[in-house]
Amino acid sequence: MSRELEGRVAVVTGGSRGIGKATCIAVAEAGASVVVNYLEEGIGVNRNDAENVVKEIVNAGGKAVAIPADVSNEDDVYAMTDEAVKQCGGGDVLINNAAILRDKTVKKMSLEDWDAVIGTNLTSVYLCSRAFLDPLEISGRGAIVSISSISAQMGFFGQANYAAAKGGIVAFTRVLAKEVARKNIRVNAVAPGLVATDMTQTIPEDHLCKMIEQIPMGRLARPEEIANVIVFLASDKSSFVSGQTIAVNGGWL
Ligand code: NAP
Repeated sequence: MSRELEGRVAVVTGGSRGIGKATCIAVAEAGASVVVNYLEEGIGVNRNDAENVVKEIVNAGGKAVAIPADVSNEDDVYAMTDEAVKQCGGGDVLINNAAILRDKTVKKMSLEDWDAVIGTNLTSVYLCSRAFLDPLEISGRGAIVSISSISAQMGFFGQANYAAAKGGIVAFTRVLAKEVARKNIRVNAVAPGLVATDMTQTIPEDHLCKMIEQIPMGRLARPEEIANVIVFLASDKSSFVSGQTIAVNGGWL
């Protein structure tokens, strides 16, 4: 097993389920101590889900703690950052993964639907990245990896808020990468295609089947297949890669 994140602290937002959970496990397998962030008032049973991820990592011989925070809330994000530094001694890797969907056509989309998605999926990336810049700089080998989406490039029907947020991540990544390059912090993003998680279970089955037909590899990604690319971007294996968005979409785009 390759231990390219040995001795580092990795913070994963929305680490209780889906790609976030797979990423927590993958970074732990690569040797990192993991902060499993979760939303206390979220959709799932949250604290239990996050504690189960922590248990799975600890039972496999790794280190992890669960820290709650609504990543769209500035005070929560600073409290999580302080807690991560206090409990784990720093922050070397930040993985901006948390996101929600509120799909509707623009005509039917309320300002609340718009703001909720922009807040959770894009403002959170700015808030968490800003809050962790000091620990990442102290690390001397800091890495931020944010999760964009193929939706930003394809423009899926009913996802104007989601696509705007995910496209915003691509642009934010390019700019922040330049701003912090001299501090030895690399900033990258991953743009998954369709992945088998709770998020894709909300897509009506007939529509999902039609989308899968368009994917050259003919299937959804497994969350681990996204997590593997995230580990690569978090580790020194990608030491000269910054400002990039890597597509992981089975050849779709
Ligand atoms: P998911 O299964 O719906 O999980 C989303 C995670 O985000 C959950 O852990 C959720 O916590 C957390 N979360 C939501 N709002 C939060 C908040 N305000 N503060 C903290 N945590 C919050 O999603 P997924 O499919 O794994 O997606 C992970 C990432 O990949 C997202 O950025 C998504 O946009 C992106 N992505 C997914 C796909 C796909 O096909 N699944 C494709 C492209 C990109 P609770 O459990 O507490 O609700």
